[in-house]
Amino acid sequence: MASSSRVRRVLRVRGVVQGVGFRPFVHTLATTLGLAGWVCNDDEGVLIEVEGASEVVDEFGLRLRRLSPPMAHITSVEAASGTCTGDIEFSIVRSVAGGSTAHGAIASLPPDLAVCSDCLREMFDPRDRRYRHPFITCTNCGPRFTIALGLPYDRARTTMAAFEMCAACAREYHDPTDRRFHAQPVACHECGPRLELIDRGGERLHTGEGALRATQRLLVDGAIVAVKGIGGYHLMCDATNPLAVATLRARKRRGGKPLAVMVAGLEVLAGVTVPSAAEVAALLGPQRPILLLRRDGRGSLQPAWPISVAGDAADVGVMLPYAPVHHLLFDGLATRVLVCTSGNLADEPIVTDDDEAFERLGAIADAWLRHDRVIHRPCDDSVVRVVGHTAGPVVSRAVSDPDAADRTLVRRSRGWAPLPVELGNWHGEELPGVLAMGGDLKNVVAVASGRSAWLSQHLGDLGELATYRAVRRAAEQLLSLTRVSPTLVAIDAHPAYLSARLGREIAGDLGVPVVAVQHHHAHIVSVLAEAGRAATSANHDPVIGFAFDGTGFGPDGTIWGGEVLVADAAHAERVAHLAAVPLPGGDAAIEQPARAALAHLWAAGCAWDQRLPCVSWFAEPERAVVRVQLERRLATVPTSSMGRLFDAVAALAGVRQVVEFEAQAAIELEAVADPDADGSYGFAFADRDGSIDAGPVIREVVRDVLAGEPAGVVSTRFHRAVTAMVLDTARRARRARRLHTVVLTGGVFQNVLLMQGCAASLEADGFEVLRNRLVPTNDGGLALGQAVVAGTVFAHLPAMRKD
Ligand SMILES: [Zn+2]
Ligand SMILES: [Zn+2]
Repeated sequence: MASSSRVRRVLRVRGVVQGVGFRPFVHTLATTLGLAGWVCNDDEGVLIEVEGASEVVDEFGLRLRRLSPPMAHITSVEAASGTCTGDIEFSIVRSVAGGSTAHGAIASLPPDLAVCSDCLREMFDPRDRRYRHPFITCTNCGPRFTIALGLPYDRARTTMAAFEMCAACAREYHDPTDRRFHAQPVACHECGPRLELIDRGGERLHTGEGALRATQRLLVDGAIVAVKGIGGYHLMCDATNPLAVATLRARKRRGGKPLAVMVAGLEVLAGVTVPSAAEVAALLGPQRPILLLRRDGRGSLQPAWPISVAGDAADVGVMLPYAPVHHLLFDGLATRVLVCTSGNLADEPIVTDDDEAFERLGAIADAWLRHDRVIHRPCDDSVVRVVGHTAGPVVSRAVSDPDAADRTLVRRSRGWAPLPVELGNWHGEELPGVLAMGGDLKNVVAVASGRSAWLSQHLGDLGELATYRAVRRAAEQLLSLTRVSPTLVAIDAHPAYLSARLGREIAGDLGVPVVAVQHHHAHIVSVLAEAGRAATSANHDPVIGFAFDGTGFGPDGTIWGGEVLVADAAHAERVAHLAAVPLPGGDAAIEQPARAALAHLWAAGCAWDQRLPCVSWFAEPERAVVRVQLERRLATVPTSSMGRLFDAVAALAGVRQVVEFEAQAAIELEAVADPDADGSYGFAFADRDGSIDAGPVIREVVRDVLAGEPAGVVSTRFHRAVTAMVLDTARRARRARRLHTVVLTGGVFQNVLLMQGCAASLEADGFEVLRNRLVPTNDGGLALGQAVVAGTVFAHLPAMRKD
């Protein structure tokens, strides 16, 4: 050591590095290596100065990346040399706040993660001072996003500021060697938040341990309890009590939509279903999402969970306890399965505020188990589905998320929000500040700037006034959290979208322009953006993008949804699409797949044969009205929607004539597919205008149904037909344009059978296939694509190469 020179180095660390135990990690690392200097949080992340022998300082830089704490997610480390001061100690210095950075604060707030195993061990250890403490947490777990008021992430800027630490907690908080060093939500029985149980009259029945015990008794007795958790209130009841479940359904106006359940542990799943290794990993991950488990044809979930929980749905949503209070509720509880559904009325945002919870859930809950830690941001449970291992290259760049290859995010919220999506290399260009408003369904808003994009939590379906307000609040909170001042607001091109209206309102307030982005273009670019290839595509190679969903506004004024666009981050050209079919009754046709079936029969020139389940489902007078509508084009909307084609085939095959939630018919059509069936159907291509006619498919489906083929056979043949059509279309585009990369996106691609079939056949044919992995492929990922398209267009970033 004596021979090497002494140096001082300044390291700027960006990413998710605050609120994750990063400074104590740096402190320990530097101290272990005998280095001097300091570390602090600031607006951009973590700033470090280290001083010592040059090779030891180098080693420090290597270990900094390699050994960082589990919740940390480093996106970049910049190093510069400093002037030696002769320091002999390493210290943690106060956070520096204030002042905004060039492109907003680069520091990212961590998401809320499930209570860790160390904390759980303490919570159930009678000798521990946090024995049965419902708010136990450490630097590796607990709430972050939902309690942070701003950055830098410090206790004073969280809703824990209201609780003054006791001497024992303060000692741990200030001790760099303690695992609770600067764990902002740290608390104990002495100084932390408290539980209380409230009845319908607003009277406090019990507090603390008494409240837990009384809640358990209520659940066993069949009551519905609103339980305040991390990101909002849940409504809970005993899932094995059919009367309690029926009461919850009726009070929540839930219809037949399946209810998510929380199970005490993985062992409860045994004998019910056998989750794959990837599914177990998803359930046990620190995000603790709702996992959609596919129920097999025999309905084998019924022995443990009554039919009342899931109805006849194909998927059942299951999650494990993630907040300490959930673990305490299951401790000693007779039932091992609780219905655990968002505390809201149908379609309204999840409730977080205590008074609001008391009022808005007043007609649903029998009691409220709540606490006095304020939830600053609502955050619903995330929903994932495991795709199984898909062949081909893993395009995910998320180093902190190695399971992304096996997983599809149906809803990206608690546990992921507000982790940034890194946009990749822009050749020195930087994306301007953009606020993107998303769509009207499954709304998520996004903020992008420089090389990063931040997506909000799931906000729900616009339409309810409460959701409209929630979206506006979430957009403002995300802007303030990222300190991005937008130079434009991106909206969907649909003239009637409420999200677009809200975007225009916000743009007006900010005095910035609005850029409208076509729906399916945004879907395709969401894939390019998360693969880090949006910038590259704008420079070099556009992709063949398949965007299949239910509804999106097309520039020709029709409703699109079965689209093939040759696209890059700035441009999109429609090269093929499903031939438009007139859809009678707009929204009614979405709720009634039978209507979509009649429309497709009419367009295919097929008779409305009474033996077809979708025909006999209608009363004769109603059918006559539909016929007049189609013949005279009255109150019909031409649509090229792939979602409606799936609906039509599901209805024709007798799977479902009317739906209770979005995409229900398509989900069930996928679920009944018979893997042993042979054969396929065939689409017809019109070379002139790129339209793809589903008529031949419909005629073959009719023939099969009338011949008595079961729905499972029809489903398999239809899936094969769509898969073959995708491959055929991609080949045509490759021949015409010499393009080799295919993007598969849009809500229809939540269909695992279709996604896997398309990806496998395309890859076998030499295509590179990209799909959404970090954001939902449904409209929950739309805002990411909007932000990148609008930002690219606005900044006049390099256009598509013309060769
Ligand atoms: Zn912990
Ligand atoms: Zn304390």
